[in-house]
Amino acid sequence: MTISSRDAIRLSDGRELIYFNESPAPDRAKYPDKRELPTPPPASQLRYDPLVDEWVAVAAHRQTRTFLPPSDACPLCPSTPAFSSEIPAPNYDVVVFENQFPSFSDRIKPDEITSLTDLVPVRPGIGRCEVVCFTSDHNSSFGALTPERVRTVVDALADRTSEMSEIPGVAQVFPFENRGVEIGVTLHHPHGQIYAYPTVPPRTQAMLGAAARYRARTGGDLYADTLAAEQKAEVRIVAANEHWTAYVPAAARWPYEVQIAPHRKVADIPALSDAERDAFGPIYLDILRRFDGLFGKPMPYISAWHQAVVGEGRDLGYLHLQLFSIRRAADKLKYLAGSESAMGAFVNDVVPEKAAETLRSL
Ligand SMILES: [Zn+2]
Repeated sequence: MTISSRDAIRLSDGRELIYFNESPAPDRAKYPDKRELPTPPPASQLRYDPLVDEWVAVAAHRQTRTFLPPSDACPLCPSTPAFSSEIPAPNYDVVVFENQFPSFSDRIKPDEITSLTDLVPVRPGIGRCEVVCFTSDHNSSFGALTPERVRTVVDALADRTSEMSEIPGVAQVFPFENRGVEIGVTLHHPHGQIYAYPTVPPRTQAMLGAAARYRARTGGDLYADTLAAEQKAEVRIVAANEHWTAYVPAAARWPYEVQIAPHRKVADIPALSDAERDAFGPIYLDILRRFDGLFGKPMPYISAWHQAVVGEGRDLGYLHLQLFSIRRAADKLKYLAGSESAMGAFVNDVVPEKAAETLRSL
Protein backbone atom coordinates (compact mmCIF):
# COMPACT_ATOMS: atom_id res chain seq x y z
CA MET A 1 0.00 0.00 0.00
CA THR A 2 1.31 3.43 -0.81
CA ILE A 3 -0.19 6.75 0.13
CA SER A 4 -3.16 7.67 -2.01
CA SER A 5 -3.44 11.25 -0.82
CA ARG A 6 -2.17 13.63 1.84
CA ASP A 7 -4.37 16.31 3.42
CA ALA A 8 -2.93 18.95 5.73
CA ILE A 9 -5.12 21.04 8.04
CA ARG A 10 -4.49 23.41 10.97
CA LEU A 11 -5.73 22.69 14.50
CA SER A 12 -7.36 25.55 16.41
CA ASP A 13 -4.08 26.62 18.02
CA GLY A 14 -2.28 26.72 14.68
CA ARG A 15 -0.56 23.33 14.82
CA GLU A 16 -0.34 21.38 11.56
CA LEU A 17 -2.06 17.99 11.21
CA ILE A 18 -1.59 15.76 8.14
CA TYR A 19 -3.78 12.81 7.12
CA PHE A 20 -2.02 10.13 5.06
CA ASN A 21 -4.80 8.29 3.24
CA GLU A 22 -4.48 4.74 1.86
CA SER A 23 -7.55 5.17 -0.34
CA PRO A 24 -9.33 8.22 -1.74
CA ALA A 25 -10.58 10.03 1.37
CA PRO A 26 -13.48 12.36 2.06
CA ASP A 27 -12.69 16.06 2.13
CA ARG A 28 -10.91 16.40 5.47
CA ALA A 29 -11.56 20.16 5.48
CA LYS A 30 -15.16 19.24 6.34
CA TYR A 31 -13.91 18.34 9.81
CA PRO A 32 -12.38 21.44 11.40
CA ASP A 33 -11.01 21.41 14.95
CA LYS A 34 -13.93 22.59 17.12
CA ARG A 35 -11.95 22.97 20.33
CA GLU A 36 -10.78 26.22 21.83
CA LEU A 37 -7.21 25.42 22.68
CA PRO A 38 -4.95 27.56 24.86
CA THR A 39 -2.10 29.45 23.29
CA PRO A 40 0.95 27.25 22.73
CA PRO A 41 3.40 26.92 25.63
CA PRO A 42 6.68 28.85 25.57
CA ALA A 43 9.55 27.38 23.63
CA SER A 44 12.11 25.24 25.38
CA GLN A 45 15.72 26.21 25.93
CA LEU A 46 18.87 24.40 25.02
CA ARG A 47 21.64 24.73 27.57
CA TYR A 48 25.20 23.76 26.80
CA ASP A 49 26.97 21.54 29.32
CA PRO A 50 30.65 22.41 28.88
CA LEU A 51 31.80 19.54 31.11
CA VAL A 52 30.69 16.86 28.64
CA ASP A 53 30.28 18.97 25.48
CA GLU A 54 26.55 18.22 25.15
CA TRP A 55 23.33 20.21 24.86
CA VAL A 56 20.42 19.64 27.27
CA ALA A 57 16.83 20.69 26.47
CA VAL A 58 14.86 22.31 29.28
CA ALA A 59 11.11 22.25 28.63
CA ALA A 60 9.24 22.90 31.87
CA HIS A 61 5.79 23.00 30.22
CA ARG A 62 5.98 19.25 29.50
CA GLN A 63 5.27 18.54 33.19
CA THR A 64 1.58 19.26 32.56
CA ARG A 65 1.10 16.98 29.53
CA THR A 66 -1.74 14.45 29.30
CA PHE A 67 -1.01 11.34 31.35
CA LEU A 68 -2.81 8.02 30.71
CA PRO A 69 -6.33 9.39 30.04
CA PRO A 70 -9.38 7.04 30.07
CA SER A 71 -10.03 5.45 26.66
CA ASP A 72 -13.16 7.57 25.98
CA ALA A 73 -10.99 10.67 26.31
CA CYS A 74 -8.05 9.47 24.20
CA PRO A 75 -6.57 12.44 22.31
CA LEU A 76 -5.30 10.10 19.54
CA CYS A 77 -8.62 8.40 18.69
CA PRO A 78 -10.73 9.98 15.93
CA SER A 79 -13.19 12.61 17.20
CA THR A 80 -16.76 11.54 18.02
CA PRO A 81 -19.86 13.70 18.53
CA ALA A 82 -19.26 13.33 22.28
CA PHE A 83 -15.52 13.99 22.39
CA SER A 84 -13.22 16.19 20.33
CA SER A 85 -9.76 14.63 20.22
CA GLU A 86 -6.59 15.90 18.53
CA ILE A 87 -7.87 14.36 15.28
CA PRO A 88 -11.02 16.17 14.09
CA ALA A 89 -12.06 13.57 11.44
CA PRO A 90 -14.25 10.57 12.39
CA ASN A 91 -11.66 8.14 10.95
CA TYR A 92 -8.13 7.99 9.60
CA ASP A 93 -5.45 5.61 8.32
CA VAL A 94 -2.21 7.27 9.46
CA VAL A 95 -2.12 10.79 10.85
CA VAL A 96 0.72 13.06 11.95
CA PHE A 97 0.47 16.28 13.93
CA GLU A 98 2.64 18.68 15.91
CA ASN A 99 2.91 17.80 19.58
CA GLN A 100 0.89 20.09 21.87
CA PHE A 101 3.70 19.90 24.43
CA PRO A 102 6.79 19.99 22.22
CA SER A 103 10.37 19.69 23.42
CA PHE A 104 11.34 21.66 20.28
CA SER A 105 9.27 23.91 18.03
CA ASP A 106 9.70 26.19 15.02
CA ARG A 107 6.20 27.64 15.40
CA ILE A 108 6.60 29.33 18.75
CA LYS A 109 8.54 32.57 18.93
CA PRO A 110 11.25 31.99 21.49
CA ASP A 111 11.66 34.33 24.43
CA GLU A 112 14.72 36.49 24.53
CA ILE A 113 17.38 34.33 26.12
CA THR A 114 20.94 35.01 27.07
CA SER A 115 23.84 32.90 28.21
CA LEU A 116 23.89 31.87 31.86
CA THR A 117 27.67 32.16 32.18
CA ASP A 118 30.48 32.52 29.67
CA LEU A 119 30.79 28.74 29.66
CA VAL A 120 27.08 27.98 29.33
CA PRO A 121 25.53 29.42 26.21
CA VAL A 122 21.75 29.07 25.92
CA ARG A 123 19.80 28.90 22.68
CA PRO A 124 16.12 28.58 21.80
CA GLY A 125 14.77 25.06 21.30
CA ILE A 126 14.11 25.52 17.60
CA GLY A 127 13.03 22.30 15.91
CA ARG A 128 9.85 20.33 15.74
CA CYS A 129 8.10 17.47 17.56
CA GLU A 130 5.37 15.49 15.89
CA VAL A 131 3.11 12.63 16.92
CA VAL A 132 2.41 9.77 14.46
CA CYS A 133 -0.74 7.68 14.93
CA PHE A 134 -0.28 4.28 13.28
CA THR A 135 -3.97 3.29 13.35
CA SER A 136 -7.31 4.66 14.55
CA ASP A 137 -7.79 1.43 16.57
CA HIS A 138 -7.09 2.37 20.19
CA ASN A 139 -6.54 -1.22 21.32
CA SER A 140 -4.20 -2.28 18.52
CA SER A 141 -0.39 -2.19 18.50
CA PHE A 142 2.32 -1.72 15.88
CA GLY A 143 2.92 -5.47 15.84
CA ALA A 144 -0.73 -6.06 14.89
CA LEU A 145 -0.58 -3.80 11.81
CA THR A 146 -0.64 -5.31 8.32
CA PRO A 147 2.54 -5.09 6.18
CA GLU A 148 0.56 -2.73 3.94
CA ARG A 149 -0.07 -0.36 6.85
CA VAL A 150 3.60 -0.52 7.87
CA ARG A 151 4.42 0.61 4.32
CA THR A 152 2.07 3.59 4.75
CA VAL A 153 3.79 4.46 8.04
CA VAL A 154 7.23 4.25 6.37
CA ASP A 155 6.01 6.53 3.56
CA ALA A 156 4.64 8.99 6.12
CA LEU A 157 7.98 8.96 7.99
CA ALA A 158 9.77 9.58 4.68
CA ASP A 159 7.49 12.57 4.00
CA ARG A 160 8.10 13.98 7.47
CA THR A 161 11.86 13.38 7.37
CA SER A 162 12.17 15.24 4.06
CA GLU A 163 10.06 18.15 5.23
CA MET A 164 11.53 18.50 8.72
CA SER A 165 15.09 18.27 7.35
CA GLU A 166 14.32 21.53 5.51
CA ILE A 167 13.52 23.50 8.69
CA PRO A 168 16.33 26.03 9.17
CA GLY A 169 18.55 24.97 12.05
CA VAL A 170 17.43 21.32 12.18
CA ALA A 171 20.41 18.97 12.58
CA GLN A 172 18.77 15.53 12.70
CA VAL A 173 15.31 13.98 12.32
CA PHE A 174 14.57 11.07 14.67
CA PRO A 175 11.39 8.93 14.36
CA PHE A 176 10.78 6.57 17.29
CA GLU A 177 8.18 4.60 19.18
CA ASN A 178 8.03 4.04 22.94
CA ARG A 179 5.80 1.10 23.76
CA GLY A 180 4.51 0.10 27.20
CA VAL A 181 4.00 1.84 30.54
CA GLU A 182 7.29 0.27 31.67
CA ILE A 183 9.02 2.58 29.16
CA GLY A 184 7.09 5.61 30.38
CA VAL A 185 4.39 5.82 27.71
CA THR A 186 1.76 8.41 28.68
CA LEU A 187 -0.86 7.39 26.06
CA HIS A 188 -1.87 3.79 25.26
CA HIS A 189 -3.07 4.49 21.69
CA PRO A 190 -0.53 3.02 19.18
CA HIS A 191 1.64 5.97 18.23
CA GLY A 192 5.18 7.13 17.69
CA GLN A 193 6.94 10.46 17.66
CA ILE A 194 9.33 12.37 15.44
CA TYR A 195 11.87 14.79 16.88
CA ALA A 196 13.67 17.30 14.67
CA TYR A 197 16.66 18.23 16.82
CA PRO A 198 18.47 21.58 16.57
CA THR A 199 21.74 19.91 17.62
CA VAL A 200 23.33 16.55 16.84
CA PRO A 201 22.40 14.29 19.80
CA PRO A 202 25.22 12.69 21.84
CA ARG A 203 24.64 9.14 20.55
CA THR A 204 24.81 10.33 16.94
CA GLN A 205 27.94 12.37 17.72
CA ALA A 206 29.59 9.21 19.04
CA MET A 207 28.54 7.18 15.98
CA LEU A 208 29.80 9.83 13.54
CA GLY A 209 33.13 9.99 15.35
CA ALA A 210 33.48 6.21 15.26
CA ALA A 211 32.66 6.07 11.53
CA ALA A 212 35.15 8.87 10.76
CA ARG A 213 37.96 7.23 12.74
CA TYR A 214 37.28 3.85 11.12
CA ARG A 215 37.40 5.40 7.67
CA ALA A 216 40.67 7.21 8.46
CA ARG A 217 42.25 4.06 9.89
CA THR A 218 41.12 1.45 7.37
CA GLY A 219 39.71 3.32 4.39
CA GLY A 220 36.62 1.16 4.82
CA ASP A 221 32.97 1.87 5.53
CA LEU A 222 32.00 1.01 9.10
CA TYR A 223 28.33 0.33 8.27
CA ALA A 224 28.98 -1.98 5.32
CA ASP A 225 31.86 -3.78 7.05
CA THR A 226 29.84 -4.37 10.25
CA LEU A 227 26.86 -5.74 8.35
CA ALA A 228 29.11 -8.00 6.24
CA ALA A 229 30.88 -9.28 9.37
CA GLU A 230 27.58 -10.11 11.09
CA GLN A 231 26.27 -11.87 7.98
CA LYS A 232 29.46 -13.94 7.84
CA ALA A 233 29.42 -14.76 11.57
CA GLU A 234 25.70 -15.72 11.37
CA VAL A 235 25.44 -16.47 15.09
CA ARG A 236 23.74 -13.19 16.02
CA ILE A 237 21.39 -13.02 13.03
CA VAL A 238 17.71 -13.31 13.94
CA ALA A 239 16.04 -12.94 10.52
CA ALA A 240 16.74 -11.67 7.01
CA ASN A 241 15.09 -11.09 3.66
CA GLU A 242 16.26 -9.81 0.28
CA HIS A 243 16.70 -6.20 1.46
CA TRP A 244 17.14 -6.28 5.26
CA THR A 245 19.04 -8.19 7.94
CA ALA A 246 18.04 -8.22 11.62
CA TYR A 247 20.80 -9.07 14.09
CA VAL A 248 21.69 -8.67 17.75
CA PRO A 249 24.68 -6.31 18.01
CA ALA A 250 27.82 -8.12 19.14
CA ALA A 251 28.16 -5.64 22.03
CA ALA A 252 24.43 -5.15 22.71
CA ARG A 253 23.73 -2.90 25.69
CA TRP A 254 20.19 -4.07 26.35
CA PRO A 255 18.95 -7.55 27.36
CA TYR A 256 17.06 -7.83 24.06
CA GLU A 257 18.28 -5.57 21.27
CA VAL A 258 18.04 -5.97 17.49
CA GLN A 259 19.36 -3.82 14.65
CA ILE A 260 17.40 -3.98 11.43
CA ALA A 261 19.76 -2.88 8.69
CA PRO A 262 19.11 -2.30 4.98
CA HIS A 263 21.59 -4.18 2.76
CA ARG A 264 22.20 -1.01 0.78
CA LYS A 265 23.69 1.81 2.83
CA VAL A 266 21.31 4.78 2.64
CA ALA A 267 21.24 8.08 4.51
CA ASP A 268 17.63 8.12 5.63
CA ILE A 269 14.09 6.80 5.15
CA PRO A 270 13.37 8.99 2.09
CA ALA A 271 16.35 7.31 0.36
CA LEU A 272 14.81 3.81 0.65
CA SER A 273 13.62 2.35 -2.66
CA ASP A 274 10.09 1.09 -3.24
CA ALA A 275 11.24 -2.53 -2.89
CA GLU A 276 13.17 -1.79 0.33
CA ARG A 277 10.13 -0.08 1.85
CA ASP A 278 7.89 -3.01 0.94
CA ALA A 279 10.36 -5.52 2.40
CA PHE A 280 10.66 -3.69 5.74
CA GLY A 281 7.16 -4.45 7.09
CA PRO A 282 7.44 -8.25 6.93
CA ILE A 283 10.81 -8.42 8.73
CA TYR A 284 9.95 -5.80 11.36
CA LEU A 285 6.59 -7.44 12.16
CA ASP A 286 8.40 -10.78 12.43
CA ILE A 287 10.88 -9.32 14.96
CA LEU A 288 8.09 -7.67 16.99
CA ARG A 289 6.26 -11.03 17.11
CA ARG A 290 9.43 -12.69 18.42
CA PHE A 291 9.83 -9.94 21.04
CA ASP A 292 6.27 -10.46 22.31
CA GLY A 293 6.90 -14.22 22.34
CA LEU A 294 9.92 -13.96 24.65
CA PHE A 295 7.91 -13.85 27.88
CA GLY A 296 4.40 -14.51 26.58
CA LYS A 297 3.23 -10.95 27.16
CA PRO A 298 3.52 -7.63 25.33
CA MET A 299 7.14 -6.57 25.42
CA PRO A 300 7.88 -2.97 26.42
CA TYR A 301 10.26 -1.57 23.82
CA ILE A 302 11.90 1.44 22.25
CA SER A 303 12.09 1.44 18.47
CA ALA A 304 14.49 4.04 17.09
CA TRP A 305 15.16 5.05 13.49
CA HIS A 306 18.74 6.31 13.28
CA GLN A 307 19.20 8.52 10.21
CA ALA A 308 22.08 10.54 8.78
CA VAL A 309 22.37 14.11 10.08
CA VAL A 310 21.21 16.96 7.84
CA GLY A 311 24.48 18.93 7.69
CA GLU A 312 28.16 18.18 8.28
CA GLY A 313 28.81 14.46 8.72
CA ARG A 314 25.87 13.40 6.55
CA ASP A 315 28.11 11.17 4.40
CA LEU A 316 29.19 9.26 7.51
CA GLY A 317 25.64 8.56 8.72
CA TYR A 318 23.43 5.66 7.77
CA LEU A 319 19.87 4.48 8.24
CA HIS A 320 19.10 1.59 10.56
CA LEU A 321 16.42 0.70 13.07
CA GLN A 322 17.43 -0.06 16.65
CA LEU A 323 14.84 -2.02 18.64
CA PHE A 324 15.40 -2.85 22.28
CA SER A 325 13.59 -3.78 25.46
CA ILE A 326 14.27 -3.20 29.13
CA ARG A 327 12.61 -6.51 30.07
CA ARG A 328 15.29 -9.06 30.95
CA ALA A 329 13.07 -11.76 32.50
CA ALA A 330 9.32 -12.41 32.78
CA ASP A 331 9.10 -10.39 35.97
CA LYS A 332 12.29 -8.33 35.83
CA LEU A 333 13.11 -5.02 34.19
CA LYS A 334 16.56 -3.64 33.57
CA TYR A 335 16.87 -0.26 35.21
CA LEU A 336 19.53 2.20 34.25
CA ALA A 337 21.21 2.38 37.63
CA GLY A 338 24.59 3.60 38.85
CA SER A 339 26.95 2.37 36.16
CA GLU A 340 24.64 3.12 33.20
CA SER A 341 23.04 6.37 34.44
CA ALA A 342 25.98 7.98 36.16
CA MET A 343 28.82 6.70 34.00
CA GLY A 344 27.20 5.71 30.69
CA ALA A 345 28.88 2.30 31.09
CA PHE A 346 26.45 -0.51 30.26
CA VAL A 347 26.46 -3.92 31.88
CA ASN A 348 24.26 -6.39 29.96
CA ASP A 349 22.95 -9.45 31.82
CA VAL A 350 22.06 -11.37 28.65
CA VAL A 351 24.76 -12.72 26.31
CA PRO A 352 23.98 -11.36 22.81
CA GLU A 353 24.50 -14.75 21.07
CA LYS A 354 22.08 -16.35 23.53
CA ALA A 355 19.54 -13.57 22.96
CA ALA A 356 19.79 -14.12 19.18
CA GLU A 357 19.38 -17.88 19.60
CA THR A 358 16.28 -17.42 21.77
CA LEU A 359 14.74 -14.92 19.34
CA ARG A 360 15.43 -17.24 16.39
CA SER A 361 13.66 -20.12 18.13
CA LEU A 362 10.37 -18.23 18.51
ZN1 LIG B 1 -7.14 6.10 21.32
